[in-house]
Amino acid sequence: MTRLAPSPTGALHLGNARTFLINWAMARANGWRLVLRVDDLAGPRVKKHAAQDAIDDLRWLGIDWDGDAIFQSQRLDLYRAAMRDLAQRALVFPCDVTRRELEDALAAPHAPVRGGPQGESRFPPELRPNIGPCDFDHVAESTSWRFLVDAAPIPFTDHFAGPQTQNPADTVGDFIVWTKDGEPAYQLATVADDHHLGVTDIVRGDDLLDSAARQLLLFRALNFAPEPRFFHLPLVVGEDGRRLAKRHGDTRISAYREAGVSPERVIALIARWSGVQTAPDEMSATQFSEVFDLDTMPKEQTIFTSKDDAWLRARS
Ligand code: GLU
Repeated sequence: MTRLAPSPTGALHLGNARTFLINWAMARANGWRLVLRVDDLAGPRVKKHAAQDAIDDLRWLGIDWDGDAIFQSQRLDLYRAAMRDLAQRALVFPCDVTRRELEDALAAPHAPVRGGPQGESRFPPELRPNIGPCDFDHVAESTSWRFLVDAAPIPFTDHFAGPQTQNPADTVGDFIVWTKDGEPAYQLATVADDHHLGVTDIVRGDDLLDSAARQLLLFRALNFAPEPRFFHLPLVVGEDGRRLAKRHGDTRISAYREAGVSPERVIALIARWSGVQTAPDEMSATQFSEVFDLDTMPKEQTIFTSKDDAWLRARS
């Protein structure tokens, strides 16, 4: 069982289309069930039509899934139940420390090294309050909650990227699981959903590799078993080495569709990028799933160039 989990904060582009296509092909090749889960909890960053646009783009590429799309915004009870459980067992704590206070603590002499993954500040243990069991539903609204992180390395196997050891205590410390806007943070929502959906295999971009240990900590704290297997795939980047974005031109799937490029052409480019040796100039999603082999997928990032863009458009 696996999931495609688009965030409706922007349009699908060649980079995330590649990850979704590979995830889909692995599901079809291995007989995994596949759900589409829309991660629409990112508050104001969620764009109104982006979820439907992503669904349209995926269908245009020939990617399908089992059952109806699932929206995280409609599953708040699930996340609250997880929080109640963690709060009762004193594994999370309400935290009113402001960003300013956090910055000040980090600026103090002998402050711990700052800079967790994705620019998060590490929460210093000295700011921890006394922590005891509490009732999640009775703590005032508009406070965030953090998960208590013990200092311990977390070894795990990534089935694409290889053996990993991460120590969240060193990078992010006690991390946020519930925001002061009354929404679960990504880490909590994704773990609760992955468990309740029965997800066994998580295939996603390696920008999320550094979230894996935090998610394993939550799986364990919530007694959610079995833990999923992770496959973190390298991203598509521009010639400047930065992750694909507007500055690299319009690489949205919808832009190619509107320019008359066929889905088979887009998939053929993705196949070339993904270690498929004999990729023809056009290829359907089903053909891709028949020839894609994770073992020959390049371990390094794919660089999107203007030649790729020209190649896509050449036949349109
Ligand atoms: N929605 C997340 C993203 O688009 C993916 C979450 C996940 O796969 O765990 O970055």
